[in-house]
Amino acid sequence: MRKSVVAIVGRPNVGKSTIFNRLVGERISIVEDIPGVTRDRIYAQAEWLTREFNIIDTGGIEIGDEPLLVQMRQQAEIAIDEADVIVFLVNGREGITAADEEVAKLLYKSNKPIVLGVNKIDNPEMRENIYEYYSLGFGEPFPISGSHGLGLGDLLDEVISHFPERENEAILEDTIYFSLIGRPNVGKSSLVNAILNEDRVIVSEIEGTTREAVDTNLHKDDQDFVIIDTAGMRKRGKVYETTEKYSVLRALKAIERSDVVLVLIDADTGIREQDKKIAGYAHDAGRAIVIVVNKWDTVESNEKAMKEFEANVRAHFQFLDYAPIVFLSARTKKRLHTLIPAIKLASENHAKRVPTNVLNDVIMDALAMNPTPTVKGRRLKVLYATQVAVKPPSFVIFVNDPELMHFSYERFLENKIRDAFGFVGTPIKLFSRKRQ
Ligand code: GDP
Ligand code: GDP
Repeated sequence: MRKSVVAIVGRPNVGKSTIFNRLVGERISIVEDIPGVTRDRIYAQAEWLTREFNIIDTGGIEIGDEPLLVQMRQQAEIAIDEADVIVFLVNGREGITAADEEVAKLLYKSNKPIVLGVNKIDNPEMRENIYEYYSLGFGEPFPISGSHGLGLGDLLDEVISHFPERENEAILEDTIYFSLIGRPNVGKSSLVNAILNEDRVIVSEIEGTTREAVDTNLHKDDQDFVIIDTAGMRKRGKVYETTEKYSVLRALKAIERSDVVLVLIDADTGIREQDKKIAGYAHDAGRAIVIVVNKWDTVESNEKAMKEFEANVRAHFQFLDYAPIVFLSARTKKRLHTLIPAIKLASENHAKRVPTNVLNDVIMDALAMNPTPTVKGRRLKVLYATQVAVKPPSFVIFVNDPELMHFSYERFLENKIRDAFGFVGTPIKLFSRKRQ
């Protein structure tokens, strides 16, 4: 099932990011120390009473150097476009301000459910302050305190009660969901169109229950695929569409629902810092990845040029060393036929399970080849390993003491597992657990 999306809107300093961080909790963390890959805290997973949803902090979406009022309006528009339920946040210590009314005006016009949160109500005595907020016209105001974590349960109960039914959007088994990400103008829309117009592709659109979600279903080489969010790519003309944070938000939304993410790079302009950042999101999310070097028609295509470009990609995207690289042109359709097989391969590996006994043979061979390290005179002992999950393949290594598992040794084991099972196109995860 597709997860519902909640957006928090409100003028600056009412506590949006405080609430966002509280709801997201520890789920956001800098997972890996990858240069150039930072987490934008604007979109993340949250959970309440076993209901998982995604949450947007619209305050984190900067829109150029527009005046505050314009930014606020656009943030509210984004919330209206992207969310299923909107939390409108005001400051319970300052009363209703002109800026609050400005946001309220936009929200009235939307058809989305709005839940009014009155923040900074840090103690019960202050609850009397909330009655004036009825006049905003969004029904019952919920008193909360982001910094003390008070009242959030009642607010969330209300939010969840407005989640839409999503029966039509059940995930199709045996279907590969994929999305295309990359900075503006790398050729995402062109490539989607090229794929859909390829020989022997059967296309049908799946209309979601929500207006903006239109997935495209296609069948090729005996396999069903769904391309996610092509509507979002086709829909143009909103002021905020070209801003970086908004494209990040869209990318994160699409990545979430994908098995495989195509990371597009422009052969014409070469690799940019933003490319790495966007690719980092797909990697962090644990999705299978295919790197697509588009506009290959603009480069004199020969073996040497391809080798050189590949070396360049590898140098810039070291954290994606598992991802295959496909060179193609969406415009001329040159080498386009190499894409679908790469997506299929990455998807298969992403969902692959390996037999425990073979896995342990591989681990034992690795241990024999490269003895475990010692830390302060204590040696790491590896007892056995087991695969605990797929998408991405995840392994638990039982050891005498996880503290002794050095990053470089873990990397060595990961490489041995990769060599043995060929996990091309997918990240894999290793966890060390204590076992005497
Ligand atoms: P945003 O601009 O809407 O994202 O607001 P922030 O989350 O950055 O919060 C603005 C300021 O309000 C910060 O100094 C927070 O520490 C403070 N703040 C947030 N929530 C509360 C609260 O519940 N009570 C009090 N007293 N301060 C809060
Ligand atoms: P998007 O913003 O990522 O969706 O990019 P578009 O698909 O709108 O493409 C941006 C521009 O690049 C358009 O002018 C396309 O015609 C052009 N373009 C897309 N793919 C190719 C390609 O393979 N070769 C060349 N030369 N141009 C391309």
